[in-house]
Amino acid sequence: MQIFVCIKQVPDTTEVKIDPETGRLIREGVPSIVNPFDKHAVEAALQLREAHGGKVTVITMGLPQAQEALRECLAMGADEAILVSDGPFGGADTLATSYTLSRACEKLGEHDLILFGKQAIDGDTAQVGPGVAEHLNLPQVTYVQKILELKDGKMRVERGIEGGYEVIEVPLPCVLTVDKSINEPRFPTMMGTMKAHKKEIPTWGVKDIEAAEDRIGSDGSATWVKRTFAPERKRRGEIIDCESPEEAVQVLISKLRDAKVI
Ligand SMILES: Cc1cc2nc3c(=O)[nH]c(=O)nc-3n(C[C@H](O)[C@H](O)[C@H](O)COP(=O)(O)OP(=O)(O)OC[C@H]3O[C@@H](n4cnc5c(N)ncnc54)[C@H](O)[C@@H]3O)c2cc1C
Repeated sequence: MQIFVCIKQVPDTTEVKIDPETGRLIREGVPSIVNPFDKHAVEAALQLREAHGGKVTVITMGLPQAQEALRECLAMGADEAILVSDGPFGGADTLATSYTLSRACEKLGEHDLILFGKQAIDGDTAQVGPGVAEHLNLPQVTYVQKILELKDGKMRVERGIEGGYEVIEVPLPCVLTVDKSINEPRFPTMMGTMKAHKKEIPTWGVKDIEAAEDRIGSDGSATWVKRTFAPERKRRGEIIDCESPEEAVQVLISKLRDAKVI
């Protein structure tokens, strides 16, 4: 089985703040991580390879430092990694990002499955996986929470929906975006980490993937982020400072009663 996994390097959003003056994310000093959903996609790919054989290739489009994210996935057990990085890719929205990733997938060649995380924790659009599926004209299933069966060139998967799930059968090759509940990602082993550091990661630019210049980066984007802002805090909390937790609970209950909340 040839499995590609698209992963994104994201800032650890638990540490990101917005500059109130400029409205931009303050990224300085913020550690970067592999998008958490994408680790579940890598784990799903590794489990499929263990059960059915084949190769797992991880791909990211990003700045040169995104190599670190790829190495983490190699350390988990992926076979190969590709970094798609070039100046003209900068400023891409989800349309241009998914086009660029689809070109990289085409260059990589035959594939049975392309996996994505459900969404990126910074952009949060959940559009890139479905976008790549559209560009490659592949069937897609989003929010996959369980892979039930792979047989006779078809997969049966469970897809999460509000209050339940659907069971969907999809022919290969296809695109799946996965939810965290699908598995528990493995930790990289010491040996895996050492091997990953020695592995060469090819960098592909615009020419390598034969991308149309008017479909990549800011020129190929249909949307622009005009402003980012943190919502204003309207209500301030109140700290109930008492001698003991029991006393604090009594004070809280009487306050809630006074406010007719309980
Ligand atoms: C310099 C810069 C400028 C930008 N300008 C704009 C702009 O003007 N307008 C705008 O709308 N957005 C802009 N973006 C954000 C950009 O659109 C998103 O980062 C990107 O399209 C992915 O969207 P998302 O984060 O919502 O991913 P989602 O769609 O939520 O991600 C879903 C899954 O897709 C995969 N994936 C996502 N991104 C990548 C990637 N790069 N490589 C490999 N796999 C990936 C992962 O598996 C991920 O779990 C900009 C980003 C940068 C760095």
